[in-house]
Amino acid sequence: MTSDIPVRIRPAIAALPPYKQGRQAGADAFKLSSNENPFDPLPGVVDAVRSQVALNRYPDATASRLRHRLAERFGVAPDEVHIGSGSVAILAQFVLAAAGPGDEVVYAWRSFEAYPGLVAVAGGTSIEVPITADGRHDLQAMADAVTDRTRVIIVCSPNNPTGPIVTQAEFDSFIARVPADVLVILDEAYFEFVTDPAAVDGEKVLAAGAHPNVVVLRTFSKAYGLAGLRIGYAVGNSRVLDAARSTAIPLSVTAQAEEAALASLDAEPALKDRVANIAERRDALVNAVRDQGWRIPDAQGNFVWLATGEQTMTAAQAFEEGGVIVRPFAGDGIRISVGEAEAVDKVIAIAASIVETLPEGHSGRALA
Ligand SMILES: *Cc1c(COP(=O)(O)O)cnc(C)c1O
Repeated sequence: MTSDIPVRIRPAIAALPPYKQGRQAGADAFKLSSNENPFDPLPGVVDAVRSQVALNRYPDATASRLRHRLAERFGVAPDEVHIGSGSVAILAQFVLAAAGPGDEVVYAWRSFEAYPGLVAVAGGTSIEVPITADGRHDLQAMADAVTDRTRVIIVCSPNNPTGPIVTQAEFDSFIARVPADVLVILDEAYFEFVTDPAAVDGEKVLAAGAHPNVVVLRTFSKAYGLAGLRIGYAVGNSRVLDAARSTAIPLSVTAQAEEAALASLDAEPALKDRVANIAERRDALVNAVRDQGWRIPDAQGNFVWLATGEQTMTAAQAFEEGGVIVRPFAGDGIRISVGEAEAVDKVIAIAASIVETLPEGHSGRALA
């Protein structure tokens, strides 16, 4: 397997599949494969980025203006906020800091595709706990999976790629069972799109102050539409965040990204409008495909999940032929981002033709 690499590489790394980005859409296709925001940057953001022209200078190493701003919002101290070049970068920092060889990292599966790779790179062992038939975390089973080798647990709400949230009640009983010295990362990349009032809210978990082992991750990539600038953040105990700061590659967060994040926070009313708009499109899409006979999980992010199973690659092909690039997970299902209104209409039309082809009793079909 590794004989084609001309230098010696750690076996765990050589065994990893080379990174492949979701397909780039052709000029006339809609790219709904990366959960990106279909809107232009929020008002003021492009000007804010343009104002940062000292490209010969390194950025402020800790993005302190943004840390102060977020600290105010969360009612925490600035040291209880950590900024990274995307929240995936922060995930990597935590896993590297907490889980070396022999250590275990527990997360739901299927969940965010980046998790297994981050654990492998750190040298740790992934413990993947199957999600339920309706795409939800099985938090009982996740708590049961904790051993004395567990160093990190990742909880993803809403779950990428299936869509459902973890409820606050579920999270509370889960965290009560987790040893207090195990780091729990609550990945809330899609938090802003959540409309279910029962959903866990990392801000409330932190405000309760009972669990200093919980760190909340959020990002400017999805709702705020800054995926291209790479900026996200963690909120939690400052000594826990120090561990991530220690494994971070210094100076990765650019001044342009920090400025864009600050300007995005200034544009809160416009953000709320857009998020509400995407959530409405999402709910309309969910209702439309359910009416067609699809059985799909609750969708609380900016994406929906079609459990196409063995038909996944042919279904993805049908979407592509119809001008929509989706994200297929072979043998399992298809994740489709909620994009432009016109793109959503296309998705609904193509989904109607696919559901017809699924055999009776298929996991993606509702019982007649
Ligand atoms: C998109 C996403 C992230 C964040 O990505 P960044 O662009 O690195 O901030 C984190 N977690 C999940 C589950 C995601 O889907």
